[in-house]
Amino acid sequence: MRVFHLSAECYPVAKVGGLADVVGSLPKYQNRLGCVASVIMPWYDVDFVNKNTFENIFDGKVVLRNHQYPFKVLKETKNQLGFELFLIKIEGLTDRQSVYGYEDAAKQFIGFQTVALYFMRESEIQPDLVHCHDHHTGLIPFMMNYVPEFEKLRGIPTVGTIHNGQYQGQMGWEMLNYLPGFNLSDSGLLDWNNIINPLAAMVKCTHAFTTVSEGYLNELMNEKGAGLESLYRQESQKAYGLVNGIDTEVWNPETDEFLVENYGSNNFVSKKKANKKVLYERYKLNKELPLVAFIGRFAAEKGADLLPGIIQRMIMERSGDVNFFVLGSGNLEVEQKLLDVQHRFIGNFGLETGYNEALSHLIYAGADFLLMPSRVEPCGLNQMYAMRYGSIPIVRKTGGLNDTVPDIEEKNGRGFQFNDADETGACWAIHKALDFMSNTKESRKLRRKIMKIDFSWEKSAQKYLALYKTIKQR
Ligand code: ADP
Repeated sequence: MRVFHLSAECYPVAKVGGLADVVGSLPKYQNRLGCVASVIMPWYDVDFVNKNTFENIFDGKVVLRNHQYPFKVLKETKNQLGFELFLIKIEGLTDRQSVYGYEDAAKQFIGFQTVALYFMRESEIQPDLVHCHDHHTGLIPFMMNYVPEFEKLRGIPTVGTIHNGQYQGQMGWEMLNYLPGFNLSDSGLLDWNNIINPLAAMVKCTHAFTTVSEGYLNELMNEKGAGLESLYRQESQKAYGLVNGIDTEVWNPETDEFLVENYGSNNFVSKKKANKKVLYERYKLNKELPLVAFIGRFAAEKGADLLPGIIQRMIMERSGDVNFFVLGSGNLEVEQKLLDVQHRFIGNFGLETGYNEALSHLIYAGADFLLMPSRVEPCGLNQMYAMRYGSIPIVRKTGGLNDTVPDIEEKNGRGFQFNDADETGACWAIHKALDFMSNTKESRKLRRKIMKIDFSWEKSAQKYLALYKTIKQR
């Protein structure tokens, strides 16, 4: 079965968050199961693109409103990611250094989707299925089925995965002129609350839609659908919750090149300490103290605004007997508050703002606990990386966190849960976790256990393939 994945991000080409990790690994595992999965994404002016070789396999011009943009489709020549990678380069639209954050994002992603469809239409080998990821590719199922230009692709099954339902890519109807022409009687399929909503359009037009955990699917249908709850419920007969896997080759403490010492579940005690030592030396943190870490976007969804209060309160309540480390970027107010806390508690709190892949690996290895006070967490990958690296997750009971980190008090406990996304809830759980750590034997037993959990893509990749097959048979 030939499958094209369409996405704005893909690790290691361009990564902002978990979307990249998923699109950079799922196709690789699908290919091992006998599928022919490839990735089509925008070309960005980034290291991976500049350092690798690509051949130009298709070019032309795309008209958006009344402006013509030259484009190229470039194929990575060495197949080094375990799948074919196609980049769509549109002059003046995708040749940029960042994935997101541009004022003309709507135009940028309409251009990307339109050219992706030109490419698929003209490609010698037609896909058996097209898999769209998040709202940046949400217009594809509509365009394939209702835009006469793409008639050749009509009826090819599509799957749409919602990695984050908070972002929907809404745009006003004035953007209609940027879309390829279609019969206006079909425009209701693009509409939600009188504006064009690409995520809603994806849910309406795709053959099946998935979210990245069962728990998050329920939340989307009930209170956390960011306005699309009724749509999710209405389309629930084609909804599936399939939990993400992790790339156990990239995220492997036994081989990870970003660690100062590698380790497995039999020798993690001293080696985790060695990684922690480097982190402590680099950031001048007090030695011999347990480490609670946070890695992620400074966004309300992640509960990042709670971090300054939590860290301050915990250091005071534990009389300085705990260290924290935060790596992230986003909301500047949060960043400033964290800096203030760092100045007050020198030696107890390490902070690195910005995006740093290498440091994130060292933190997963060196930490004792990973804190995730998320208000919303569709699946969450950090907690799975943490467990694989022997760091115990402390998580708010929500979405994918609830699905993947049962509380320590449960039979199959893996970490510490708390109910309320507030300072008190998080501090209660951190105290509990730190007290637990003082029982060295139990704490090591839990670390050994969570390191051995199979979070690999194999199971989930098989579930996706089973879903593809069901759709094709309909
Ligand atoms: P998101 O909602 O941000 O996609 P996920 O838990 O699904 O959250 O995935 C987050 C991914 O991004 C993980 O691989 C995590 O390690 C990584 N990450 C987040 N922030 C940073 C950062 N500042 N530096 C390095 N990696 C980061």
